[in-house]
Amino acid sequence: MAVIFATIHSKLQIRSVARGEGVVERLRRSTLIHFKSLPPMLRKSVFFALLLWLSAVPSDSSARIQASDPYQVTKAYYEKLRSGGSKSDVAELRLFLSLMPKGGDIHHHFSGATYAESYLDMVRKAGCWVNRNDYSVICPEDAGSLKDTLSVDNLRKDNRLLSTFYSRWSDKDYYNHSHDTDAPDVQFFGTFAYFSKILSRNSPTYYREGIGILKQRAKIENVQYIETMLVSSGYKNTDSNFDASIRAASGNEQQFRSTLDGFMAVIRNDPAFNDKVNQYLKLVNDCSIGVDDESFTLRYQSYVSRTLSPSEFFSGLVAAFYEASKSPLVVGVNVVSSENNPVSMSDYKVHMQMFRYLKAKFPDVKTTMHAGELTMGMVRPEELTFHISDALSVAGAGRIGHGVDIAYEANAPAALDYMRQKPVPVEICLTSNEFILGVKGNEHPIDLYARSGVPLVIATDDAGVSRNNLANEYLLLATRYGYSYDFLREVVGNSIRYSFMNEQDKRRNMQLLNMKFAEFESRISNFVGSQHMKRSTARPAGIMRPPVTTGPR
Ligand SMILES: [Zn+2]
Repeated sequence: MAVIFATIHSKLQIRSVARGEGVVERLRRSTLIHFKSLPPMLRKSVFFALLLWLSAVPSDSSARIQASDPYQVTKAYYEKLRSGGSKSDVAELRLFLSLMPKGGDIHHHFSGATYAESYLDMVRKAGCWVNRNDYSVICPEDAGSLKDTLSVDNLRKDNRLLSTFYSRWSDKDYYNHSHDTDAPDVQFFGTFAYFSKILSRNSPTYYREGIGILKQRAKIENVQYIETMLVSSGYKNTDSNFDASIRAASGNEQQFRSTLDGFMAVIRNDPAFNDKVNQYLKLVNDCSIGVDDESFTLRYQSYVSRTLSPSEFFSGLVAAFYEASKSPLVVGVNVVSSENNPVSMSDYKVHMQMFRYLKAKFPDVKTTMHAGELTMGMVRPEELTFHISDALSVAGAGRIGHGVDIAYEANAPAALDYMRQKPVPVEICLTSNEFILGVKGNEHPIDLYARSGVPLVIATDDAGVSRNNLANEYLLLATRYGYSYDFLREVVGNSIRYSFMNEQDKRRNMQLLNMKFAEFESRISNFVGSQHMKRSTARPAGIMRPPVTTGPR
Protein backbone atom coordinates (compact mmCIF):
# COMPACT_ATOMS: atom_id res chain seq x y z
CA MET A 1 0.00 0.00 0.00
CA ALA A 2 2.80 2.38 0.91
CA VAL A 3 4.52 1.73 -2.42
CA ILE A 4 1.34 2.43 -4.32
CA PHE A 5 0.76 5.61 -2.38
CA ALA A 6 4.30 6.70 -3.13
CA THR A 7 3.62 6.09 -6.83
CA ILE A 8 0.41 8.12 -6.68
CA HIS A 9 2.23 10.84 -4.87
CA SER A 10 5.16 10.97 -7.30
CA LYS A 11 2.94 10.89 -10.42
CA LEU A 12 0.87 13.76 -9.13
CA GLN A 13 4.05 15.62 -8.26
CA ILE A 14 5.49 15.11 -11.76
CA ARG A 15 2.29 16.39 -13.34
CA SER A 16 2.13 19.41 -11.12
CA VAL A 17 5.79 20.31 -11.66
CA ALA A 18 5.62 19.68 -15.43
CA ARG A 19 2.60 21.87 -15.88
CA GLY A 20 3.29 24.28 -13.07
CA GLU A 21 -0.26 23.74 -11.87
CA GLY A 22 -0.85 24.77 -8.27
CA VAL A 23 -4.37 23.38 -8.57
CA VAL A 24 -3.02 19.85 -9.02
CA GLU A 25 -0.72 20.24 -6.07
CA ARG A 26 -3.58 21.47 -3.89
CA LEU A 27 -5.76 18.57 -5.09
CA ARG A 28 -3.02 16.09 -4.19
CA ARG A 29 -2.66 17.43 -0.67
CA SER A 30 -6.36 17.54 0.06
CA THR A 31 -6.83 14.04 -1.47
CA LEU A 32 -4.25 12.53 0.89
CA ILE A 33 -5.67 14.27 3.96
CA HIS A 34 -9.27 13.27 3.23
CA PHE A 35 -8.33 9.72 2.21
CA LYS A 36 -7.03 8.96 5.71
CA SER A 37 -10.29 10.02 7.31
CA LEU A 38 -12.47 7.66 5.15
CA PRO A 39 -13.97 4.40 6.52
CA PRO A 40 -11.86 1.33 5.50
CA MET A 41 -14.43 -0.02 2.97
CA LEU A 42 -14.76 3.33 1.20
CA ARG A 43 -10.99 3.80 1.31
CA LYS A 44 -10.54 0.58 -0.73
CA SER A 45 -13.04 1.70 -3.38
CA VAL A 46 -11.53 5.16 -3.71
CA PHE A 47 -8.08 3.60 -3.88
CA PHE A 48 -9.01 1.41 -6.91
CA ALA A 49 -10.78 4.30 -8.63
CA LEU A 50 -7.60 6.30 -8.23
CA LEU A 51 -5.57 3.46 -9.75
CA LEU A 52 -7.84 3.46 -12.83
CA TRP A 53 -7.51 7.22 -13.14
CA LEU A 54 -3.74 7.05 -12.91
CA SER A 55 -3.55 4.50 -15.73
CA ALA A 56 -4.73 7.31 -18.01
CA VAL A 57 -2.35 9.94 -16.67
CA PRO A 58 0.29 10.81 -19.30
CA SER A 59 3.56 8.99 -18.86
CA ASP A 60 6.61 10.77 -17.54
CA SER A 61 8.02 11.16 -21.06
CA SER A 62 4.88 12.87 -22.41
CA ALA A 63 4.90 15.14 -19.37
CA ARG A 64 8.43 16.10 -20.25
CA ILE A 65 7.43 16.67 -23.89
CA GLN A 66 4.80 19.13 -22.73
CA ALA A 67 7.48 21.08 -20.98
CA SER A 68 9.62 21.14 -24.18
CA ASP A 69 9.52 23.63 -27.02
CA PRO A 70 6.66 23.52 -29.55
CA TYR A 71 8.85 22.10 -32.31
CA GLN A 72 9.83 19.11 -30.14
CA VAL A 73 6.24 18.57 -29.04
CA THR A 74 5.02 18.70 -32.65
CA LYS A 75 7.73 16.35 -33.82
CA ALA A 76 7.00 13.83 -31.05
CA TYR A 77 3.26 14.09 -31.67
CA TYR A 78 3.71 13.47 -35.41
CA GLU A 79 5.94 10.45 -34.72
CA LYS A 80 3.35 9.06 -32.36
CA LEU A 81 0.58 9.47 -34.96
CA ARG A 82 2.70 8.12 -37.78
CA SER A 83 3.81 5.03 -35.91
CA GLY A 84 0.15 4.31 -35.17
CA GLY A 85 0.00 3.08 -38.80
CA SER A 86 -3.38 2.08 -40.08
CA LYS A 87 -5.11 2.28 -36.69
CA SER A 88 -7.32 5.14 -35.61
CA ASP A 89 -4.45 7.63 -35.69
CA VAL A 90 -4.92 8.23 -39.45
CA ALA A 91 -7.80 10.62 -38.75
CA GLU A 92 -5.64 12.53 -36.29
CA LEU A 93 -2.77 12.51 -38.76
CA ARG A 94 -5.10 14.02 -41.35
CA LEU A 95 -5.99 16.77 -38.91
CA PHE A 96 -2.28 17.39 -38.27
CA LEU A 97 -1.42 17.53 -41.99
CA SER A 98 -4.43 19.68 -42.86
CA LEU A 99 -3.24 22.31 -40.39
CA MET A 100 0.45 21.97 -41.32
CA PRO A 101 1.84 24.67 -43.62
CA LYS A 102 2.38 23.13 -47.04
CA GLY A 103 4.28 25.89 -48.81
CA GLY A 104 3.52 25.71 -52.52
CA ASP A 105 1.70 23.51 -54.97
CA ILE A 106 4.03 23.77 -57.95
CA HIS A 107 2.74 21.01 -60.21
CA HIS A 108 -0.74 22.35 -60.73
CA HIS A 109 -3.01 22.43 -63.79
CA PHE A 110 -5.64 25.13 -63.43
CA SER A 111 -8.40 23.42 -65.43
CA GLY A 112 -7.78 20.07 -63.72
CA ALA A 113 -7.65 21.68 -60.30
CA THR A 114 -11.15 23.15 -60.64
CA TYR A 115 -13.86 20.84 -59.29
CA ALA A 116 -16.79 19.82 -61.53
CA GLU A 117 -19.18 21.51 -59.07
CA SER A 118 -17.52 24.85 -59.88
CA TYR A 119 -17.68 24.15 -63.61
CA LEU A 120 -21.41 23.51 -63.28
CA ASP A 121 -21.80 26.95 -61.70
CA MET A 122 -20.00 28.43 -64.71
CA VAL A 123 -22.18 26.49 -67.19
CA ARG A 124 -25.27 27.82 -65.43
CA LYS A 125 -24.03 31.42 -65.41
CA ALA A 126 -23.14 31.19 -69.10
CA GLY A 127 -26.73 30.18 -69.94
CA CYS A 128 -25.51 26.85 -71.35
CA TRP A 129 -26.70 23.29 -70.77
CA VAL A 130 -25.32 19.78 -70.40
CA ASN A 131 -25.95 17.10 -72.99
CA ARG A 132 -27.77 14.24 -71.26
CA ASN A 133 -26.00 11.57 -73.35
CA ASP A 134 -22.35 12.55 -73.44
CA TYR A 135 -22.31 15.24 -70.69
CA SER A 136 -20.65 17.83 -72.92
CA VAL A 137 -21.51 21.52 -72.63
CA ILE A 138 -24.06 22.82 -75.13
CA CYS A 139 -24.52 26.57 -75.58
CA PRO A 140 -27.15 28.62 -77.47
CA GLU A 141 -24.95 28.85 -80.58
CA ASP A 142 -24.89 25.03 -80.90
CA ALA A 143 -28.21 25.19 -82.72
CA GLY A 144 -28.23 21.61 -83.99
CA SER A 145 -27.51 20.03 -80.59
CA LEU A 146 -30.15 21.52 -78.35
CA LYS A 147 -32.68 18.72 -78.11
CA ASP A 148 -30.98 16.36 -75.65
CA THR A 149 -29.86 18.95 -73.17
CA LEU A 150 -30.49 19.47 -69.48
CA SER A 151 -30.29 22.72 -67.58
CA VAL A 152 -27.85 22.73 -64.67
CA ASP A 153 -30.77 23.11 -62.25
CA ASN A 154 -32.49 20.03 -63.66
CA LEU A 155 -29.24 18.08 -63.72
CA ARG A 156 -28.72 18.89 -60.04
CA LYS A 157 -32.20 17.56 -59.25
CA ASP A 158 -31.52 14.19 -60.90
CA ASN A 159 -29.22 12.16 -58.62
CA ARG A 160 -28.53 9.44 -61.16
CA LEU A 161 -27.57 11.81 -63.98
CA LEU A 162 -25.63 14.07 -61.64
CA SER A 163 -23.64 11.13 -60.35
CA THR A 164 -22.80 10.07 -63.91
CA PHE A 165 -21.91 13.66 -64.75
CA TYR A 166 -19.32 13.76 -61.95
CA SER A 167 -17.94 10.39 -62.99
CA ARG A 168 -17.35 11.78 -66.51
CA TRP A 169 -15.98 15.16 -65.49
CA SER A 170 -13.63 13.70 -62.87
CA ASP A 171 -12.31 10.39 -61.52
CA LYS A 172 -15.12 10.26 -58.95
CA ASP A 173 -16.52 6.76 -58.30
CA TYR A 174 -14.24 5.18 -60.88
CA TYR A 175 -13.41 2.20 -58.70
CA ASN A 176 -16.23 1.95 -56.22
CA HIS A 177 -19.00 0.55 -58.36
CA SER A 178 -19.44 -1.53 -61.48
CA HIS A 179 -19.93 0.41 -64.70
CA ASP A 180 -18.56 0.69 -68.21
CA THR A 181 -15.26 2.51 -67.99
CA ASP A 182 -12.49 3.75 -70.19
CA ALA A 183 -8.91 2.91 -69.22
CA PRO A 184 -7.82 5.16 -66.31
CA ASP A 185 -5.48 7.29 -68.45
CA VAL A 186 -8.20 7.79 -71.09
CA GLN A 187 -10.70 8.68 -68.36
CA PHE A 188 -8.27 11.12 -66.72
CA PHE A 189 -7.10 12.98 -69.81
CA GLY A 190 -10.59 12.80 -71.34
CA THR A 191 -12.04 15.04 -68.62
CA PHE A 192 -10.14 18.05 -69.97
CA ALA A 193 -12.18 18.10 -73.17
CA TYR A 194 -15.24 18.96 -71.06
CA PHE A 195 -13.64 21.94 -69.33
CA SER A 196 -12.22 23.92 -72.21
CA LYS A 197 -15.53 24.88 -73.80
CA ILE A 198 -16.94 26.56 -70.75
CA LEU A 199 -13.65 28.22 -69.78
CA SER A 200 -13.12 29.67 -73.24
CA ARG A 201 -16.65 31.03 -73.39
CA ASN A 202 -16.08 33.90 -71.04
CA SER A 203 -12.48 33.30 -70.27
CA PRO A 204 -11.33 36.27 -68.16
CA THR A 205 -14.38 36.03 -65.91
CA TYR A 206 -14.28 32.29 -65.42
CA TYR A 207 -10.52 32.10 -65.03
CA ARG A 208 -10.70 34.84 -62.39
CA GLU A 209 -13.57 33.05 -60.67
CA GLY A 210 -11.66 29.75 -60.74
CA ILE A 211 -8.53 31.39 -59.35
CA GLY A 212 -10.58 32.88 -56.52
CA ILE A 213 -11.85 29.40 -55.61
CA LEU A 214 -8.35 27.89 -55.75
CA LYS A 215 -6.93 30.67 -53.59
CA GLN A 216 -9.65 30.14 -51.01
CA ARG A 217 -8.97 26.39 -50.97
CA ALA A 218 -5.23 27.05 -50.65
CA LYS A 219 -5.74 29.32 -47.64
CA ILE A 220 -8.01 26.79 -45.96
CA GLU A 221 -5.39 24.06 -46.20
CA ASN A 222 -2.48 26.37 -45.38
CA VAL A 223 -0.93 26.60 -48.86
CA GLN A 224 0.75 29.94 -49.58
CA TYR A 225 1.91 29.60 -53.18
CA ILE A 226 0.55 28.11 -56.40
CA GLU A 227 2.44 27.83 -59.66
CA THR A 228 -0.31 26.96 -62.09
CA MET A 229 -0.58 26.05 -65.73
CA LEU A 230 -3.50 28.35 -66.52
CA VAL A 231 -3.99 27.85 -70.25
CA SER A 232 -1.83 27.74 -73.36
CA SER A 233 -1.75 30.74 -75.67
CA GLY A 234 -3.25 28.52 -78.37
CA TYR A 235 -0.82 29.76 -80.98
CA LYS A 236 -0.24 27.15 -83.69
CA ASN A 237 1.56 27.39 -86.98
CA THR A 238 0.87 24.23 -88.98
CA ASP A 239 3.39 23.27 -91.64
CA SER A 240 3.56 19.67 -92.89
CA ASN A 241 6.82 20.31 -94.81
CA PHE A 242 8.49 21.44 -91.62
CA ASP A 243 7.07 18.38 -89.82
CA ALA A 244 8.74 16.02 -92.27
CA SER A 245 12.05 17.87 -92.43
CA ILE A 246 12.49 18.33 -88.68
CA ARG A 247 11.76 14.67 -87.98
CA ALA A 248 14.30 13.72 -90.64
CA ALA A 249 16.90 16.07 -89.10
CA SER A 250 16.53 14.71 -85.57
CA GLY A 251 19.83 12.82 -85.68
CA ASN A 252 21.78 15.75 -87.17
CA GLU A 253 22.19 18.57 -84.66
CA GLN A 254 23.36 21.19 -87.19
CA GLN A 255 20.63 20.47 -89.70
CA PHE A 256 18.08 20.36 -86.90
CA ARG A 257 19.13 23.79 -85.67
CA SER A 258 19.12 25.42 -89.10
CA THR A 259 15.66 23.99 -89.84
CA LEU A 260 14.41 25.51 -86.58
CA ASP A 261 16.12 28.83 -87.38
CA GLY A 262 14.13 29.07 -90.61
CA PHE A 263 10.81 28.21 -88.97
CA MET A 264 11.49 30.52 -86.04
CA ALA A 265 11.71 33.46 -88.46
CA VAL A 266 8.38 32.46 -90.02
CA ILE A 267 6.75 32.31 -86.59
CA ARG A 268 8.12 35.68 -85.48
CA ASN A 269 6.81 37.31 -88.66
CA ASP A 270 3.33 35.87 -88.23
CA PRO A 271 1.00 38.63 -86.91
CA ALA A 272 -1.09 35.92 -85.20
CA PHE A 273 1.93 35.08 -83.03
CA ASN A 274 2.03 38.49 -81.37
CA ASP A 275 -1.75 38.57 -81.09
CA LYS A 276 -1.92 35.25 -79.28
CA VAL A 277 1.03 36.00 -77.02
CA ASN A 278 -0.40 39.39 -76.09
CA GLN A 279 -3.86 37.93 -75.46
CA TYR A 280 -2.33 35.36 -73.16
CA LEU A 281 -0.29 37.96 -71.27
CA LYS A 282 -3.37 40.16 -70.90
CA LEU A 283 -5.36 37.23 -69.52
CA VAL A 284 -2.60 36.47 -67.00
CA ASN A 285 -2.46 40.12 -65.94
CA ASP A 286 -6.23 40.39 -65.63
CA CYS A 287 -6.43 37.18 -63.62
CA SER A 288 -3.74 38.37 -61.24
CA ILE A 289 -5.32 41.64 -60.19
CA GLY A 290 -5.86 41.60 -56.43
CA VAL A 291 -4.83 37.96 -56.06
CA ASP A 292 -1.44 38.22 -54.33
CA ASP A 293 -1.59 39.27 -50.70
CA GLU A 294 0.57 39.01 -47.59
CA SER A 295 -0.04 35.26 -47.28
CA PHE A 296 -0.66 34.09 -50.85
CA THR A 297 1.26 34.29 -54.13
CA LEU A 298 0.17 33.06 -57.55
CA ARG A 299 2.50 32.54 -60.50
CA TYR A 300 2.05 30.83 -63.87
CA GLN A 301 3.74 28.36 -66.19
CA SER A 302 3.11 28.64 -69.91
CA TYR A 303 3.03 25.35 -71.77
CA VAL A 304 2.52 23.42 -74.97
CA SER A 305 0.84 20.07 -75.63
CA ARG A 306 3.10 17.19 -76.67
CA THR A 307 0.38 15.55 -78.80
CA LEU A 308 0.61 18.23 -81.53
CA SER A 309 2.49 17.94 -84.82
CA PRO A 310 6.14 19.16 -84.74
CA SER A 311 5.29 22.51 -86.37
CA GLU A 312 2.39 23.10 -83.98
CA PHE A 313 4.44 21.93 -81.00
CA PHE A 314 7.39 24.14 -81.86
CA SER A 315 5.31 27.24 -82.62
CA GLY A 316 3.42 26.77 -79.35
CA LEU A 317 6.70 26.27 -77.50
CA VAL A 318 8.15 29.47 -79.01
CA ALA A 319 5.05 31.32 -77.77
CA ALA A 320 5.45 29.76 -74.31
CA PHE A 321 9.11 30.83 -74.06
CA TYR A 322 8.24 34.36 -75.23
CA GLU A 323 5.49 34.63 -72.65
CA ALA A 324 7.81 33.51 -69.86
CA SER A 325 10.46 35.97 -71.00
CA LYS A 326 8.03 38.91 -71.19
CA SER A 327 6.03 38.64 -67.94
CA PRO A 328 7.35 38.37 -64.38
CA LEU A 329 4.13 36.52 -63.55
CA VAL A 330 4.94 33.71 -66.00
CA VAL A 331 7.83 32.02 -64.25
CA GLY A 332 8.41 28.89 -66.29
CA VAL A 333 7.58 26.69 -69.27
CA ASN A 334 6.16 23.16 -69.21
CA VAL A 335 5.09 20.43 -71.63
CA VAL A 336 1.78 18.67 -71.01
CA SER A 337 -0.71 15.98 -72.19
CA SER A 338 -0.49 12.22 -72.06
CA GLU A 339 3.07 11.02 -72.49
CA ASN A 340 2.00 7.63 -73.87
CA ASN A 341 0.07 9.24 -76.74
CA PRO A 342 1.50 7.93 -80.08
CA VAL A 343 2.68 11.40 -81.18
CA SER A 344 4.15 12.17 -77.73
CA MET A 345 6.08 8.92 -77.92
CA SER A 346 7.29 9.09 -81.51
CA ASP A 347 8.31 12.77 -81.32
CA TYR A 348 9.79 12.70 -77.81
CA LYS A 349 13.39 13.18 -78.92
CA VAL A 350 12.38 15.92 -81.37
CA HIS A 351 10.59 17.74 -78.53
CA MET A 352 13.65 17.52 -76.26
CA GLN A 353 15.85 18.99 -78.98
CA MET A 354 13.37 21.82 -79.50
CA PHE A 355 13.51 22.59 -75.78
CA ARG A 356 17.29 22.60 -75.94
CA TYR A 357 17.23 25.02 -78.90
CA LEU A 358 14.91 27.48 -77.14
CA LYS A 359 16.73 27.19 -73.80
CA ALA A 360 19.82 28.43 -75.63
CA LYS A 361 17.86 31.39 -77.02
CA PHE A 362 16.16 32.17 -73.67
CA PRO A 363 18.71 31.16 -71.02
CA ASP A 364 16.79 32.91 -68.22
CA VAL A 365 13.54 31.05 -68.82
CA LYS A 366 13.05 28.18 -66.38
CA THR A 367 11.60 24.87 -67.47
CA THR A 368 9.90 21.96 -65.77
CA MET A 369 8.87 18.99 -67.80
CA HIS A 370 6.42 16.15 -67.39
CA ALA A 371 8.78 13.25 -67.98
CA GLY A 372 8.56 9.58 -67.15
CA GLU A 373 4.81 9.60 -66.50
CA LEU A 374 4.85 6.05 -67.82
CA THR A 375 5.07 2.51 -66.51
CA MET A 376 5.47 -1.09 -67.61
CA GLY A 377 2.66 -2.26 -69.89
CA MET A 378 1.70 1.24 -70.98
CA VAL A 379 4.30 1.41 -73.75
CA ARG A 380 6.98 -0.93 -75.07
CA PRO A 381 9.72 -1.65 -72.48
CA GLU A 382 12.45 0.04 -74.51
CA GLU A 383 10.38 3.23 -74.50
CA LEU A 384 10.67 3.42 -70.72
CA THR A 385 14.43 3.78 -70.82
CA PHE A 386 15.28 7.40 -71.66
CA HIS A 387 12.56 10.05 -71.15
CA ILE A 388 13.79 11.44 -67.81
CA SER A 389 17.45 11.24 -68.84
CA ASP A 390 16.74 13.10 -72.08
CA ALA A 391 14.64 15.75 -70.31
CA LEU A 392 17.70 16.38 -68.10
CA SER A 393 20.61 16.01 -70.49
CA VAL A 394 19.09 17.19 -73.79
CA ALA A 395 16.33 19.59 -72.78
CA GLY A 396 17.97 20.87 -69.58
CA ALA A 397 14.83 20.59 -67.44
CA GLY A 398 15.02 22.50 -64.16
CA ARG A 399 12.46 20.22 -62.53
CA ILE A 400 10.99 16.83 -63.46
CA GLY A 401 7.23 16.28 -63.28
CA HIS A 402 6.29 12.76 -62.06
CA GLY A 403 9.47 10.88 -63.02
CA VAL A 404 7.68 7.61 -62.27
CA ASP A 405 9.54 5.36 -64.72
CA ILE A 406 13.03 6.21 -63.41
CA ALA A 407 13.70 2.61 -62.35
CA TYR A 408 13.29 1.48 -65.99
CA GLU A 409 15.75 4.05 -67.39
CA ALA A 410 18.99 2.76 -68.89
CA ASN A 411 20.99 5.56 -67.23
CA ALA A 412 18.99 5.83 -64.03
CA PRO A 413 22.03 6.01 -61.66
CA ALA A 414 23.56 8.87 -63.67
CA ALA A 415 20.19 10.66 -63.92
CA LEU A 416 19.61 10.39 -60.16
CA ASP A 417 23.14 11.57 -59.45
CA TYR A 418 22.67 14.54 -61.77
CA MET A 419 19.36 15.44 -60.10
CA ARG A 420 21.01 15.33 -56.67
CA GLN A 421 24.02 17.40 -57.66
CA LYS A 422 22.40 20.06 -59.81
CA PRO A 423 19.87 19.90 -58.00
CA VAL A 424 16.82 19.07 -60.13
CA PRO A 425 13.83 18.26 -57.90
CA VAL A 426 11.17 15.74 -58.79
CA GLU A 427 7.52 16.77 -58.48
CA ILE A 428 5.72 13.80 -56.90
CA CYS A 429 1.97 13.48 -57.51
CA LEU A 430 0.92 10.33 -55.63
CA THR A 431 -2.84 10.30 -56.31
CA SER A 432 -2.38 11.08 -59.98
CA ASN A 433 0.27 8.36 -60.38
CA GLU A 434 -1.91 5.83 -58.62
CA PHE A 435 -4.92 6.56 -60.83
CA ILE A 436 -3.35 7.04 -64.24
CA LEU A 437 -0.45 4.61 -63.97
CA GLY A 438 -1.57 2.26 -61.20
CA VAL A 439 1.78 2.93 -59.47
CA LYS A 440 1.54 3.28 -55.69
CA GLY A 441 3.06 2.15 -52.39
CA ASN A 442 6.40 0.40 -52.66
CA GLU A 443 6.15 0.36 -56.45
CA HIS A 444 6.44 4.15 -56.52
CA PRO A 445 10.03 5.38 -56.91
CA ILE A 446 9.68 8.12 -54.28
CA ASP A 447 12.01 6.29 -51.87
CA LEU A 448 14.51 5.72 -54.66
CA TYR A 449 14.60 9.47 -55.28
CA ALA A 450 14.79 10.24 -51.55
CA ARG A 451 17.61 7.76 -50.92
CA SER A 452 19.47 9.14 -53.94
CA GLY A 453 19.37 12.61 -52.41
CA VAL A 454 17.08 14.09 -55.07
CA PRO A 455 14.96 16.92 -53.62
CA LEU A 456 11.28 15.94 -53.45
CA VAL A 457 8.29 18.19 -53.96
CA ILE A 458 4.73 17.04 -53.27
CA ALA A 459 2.01 18.36 -55.59
CA THR A 460 -1.60 17.73 -56.55
CA ASP A 461 -1.38 17.73 -60.39
CA ASP A 462 -5.18 17.92 -60.96
CA ALA A 463 -7.00 18.09 -57.65
CA GLY A 464 -10.40 18.68 -59.28
CA VAL A 465 -10.17 15.64 -61.53
CA SER A 466 -8.68 13.50 -58.76
CA ARG A 467 -11.01 15.05 -56.17
CA ASN A 468 -8.25 15.52 -53.63
CA ASN A 469 -6.21 18.34 -52.14
CA LEU A 470 -2.61 18.91 -51.09
CA ALA A 471 -3.24 17.84 -47.48
CA ASN A 472 -4.39 14.48 -48.81
CA GLU A 473 -1.16 14.08 -50.79
CA TYR A 474 0.82 14.69 -47.58
CA LEU A 475 -1.35 12.13 -45.81
CA LEU A 476 -0.39 9.56 -48.45
CA LEU A 477 3.25 10.56 -48.03
CA ALA A 478 3.11 10.12 -44.25
CA THR A 479 1.07 6.91 -44.13
CA ARG A 480 2.72 5.12 -47.04
CA TYR A 481 6.35 6.09 -46.70
CA GLY A 482 6.82 6.85 -43.03
CA TYR A 483 9.02 9.91 -43.42
CA SER A 484 9.98 11.88 -40.33
CA TYR A 485 8.58 15.29 -39.40
CA ASP A 486 11.90 16.90 -40.26
CA PHE A 487 11.80 15.31 -43.71
CA LEU A 488 8.24 16.55 -44.23
CA ARG A 489 9.35 20.06 -43.31
CA GLU A 490 12.18 19.73 -45.81
CA VAL A 491 9.75 18.63 -48.54
CA VAL A 492 7.46 21.56 -47.77
CA GLY A 493 10.44 23.92 -47.87
CA ASN A 494 11.43 22.48 -51.26
CA SER A 495 8.14 23.67 -52.73
CA ILE A 496 9.26 27.26 -52.14
CA ARG A 497 13.02 26.70 -52.49
CA TYR A 498 12.68 25.11 -55.95
CA SER A 499 9.73 27.16 -57.13
CA PHE A 500 10.35 29.42 -60.11
CA MET A 501 9.53 32.64 -58.22
CA ASN A 502 12.11 35.40 -58.44
CA GLU A 503 14.63 35.54 -55.57
CA GLN A 504 12.86 38.37 -53.77
CA ASP A 505 9.48 36.59 -53.80
CA LYS A 506 11.19 33.37 -52.76
CA ARG A 507 12.87 35.00 -49.76
CA ARG A 508 9.61 36.57 -48.69
CA ASN A 509 7.81 33.26 -49.01
CA MET A 510 10.50 31.34 -47.11
CA GLN A 511 10.18 33.84 -44.24
CA LEU A 512 6.42 33.45 -44.33
CA LEU A 513 6.77 29.66 -44.30
CA ASN A 514 9.04 29.79 -41.24
CA MET A 515 6.52 31.98 -39.45
CA LYS A 516 3.74 29.62 -40.42
CA PHE A 517 5.64 26.63 -39.04
CA ALA A 518 6.28 28.45 -35.75
CA GLU A 519 2.58 29.27 -35.52
CA PHE A 520 1.58 25.71 -36.44
CA GLU A 521 3.91 24.11 -33.91
CA SER A 522 2.64 26.38 -31.19
CA ARG A 523 -0.93 25.46 -32.12
CA ILE A 524 -0.14 21.73 -32.14
CA SER A 525 1.67 22.07 -28.82
CA ASN A 526 -1.43 23.63 -27.26
CA PHE A 527 -3.62 20.99 -28.86
CA VAL A 528 -1.48 18.17 -27.48
CA GLY A 529 -1.59 19.77 -24.03
CA SER A 530 -5.37 20.10 -24.11
CA GLN A 531 -5.72 16.50 -25.34
CA HIS A 532 -3.76 15.26 -22.33
CA MET A 533 -5.89 17.31 -19.99
CA LYS A 534 -9.08 15.92 -21.53
CA ARG A 535 -7.82 12.34 -21.46
CA SER A 536 -6.89 12.62 -17.82
CA THR A 537 -10.28 13.96 -16.76
CA ALA A 538 -12.85 12.50 -19.19
CA ARG A 539 -13.45 8.85 -18.27
CA PRO A 540 -15.91 6.51 -19.97
CA ALA A 541 -18.93 6.22 -17.66
CA GLY A 542 -18.60 2.45 -17.18
CA ILE A 543 -15.16 2.75 -15.64
CA MET A 544 -15.81 5.42 -13.05
CA ARG A 545 -19.21 4.11 -12.06
CA PRO A 546 -19.87 2.66 -8.75
CA PRO A 547 -16.60 2.16 -6.94
CA VAL A 548 -18.47 2.52 -3.64
CA THR A 549 -20.86 -0.41 -3.99
CA THR A 550 -18.93 -2.81 -6.24
CA GLY A 551 -15.37 -2.38 -5.02
CA PRO A 552 -13.26 -5.48 -4.43
CA ARG A 553 -13.93 -7.32 -1.20
ZN1 LIG B 1 0.75 17.37 -64.61
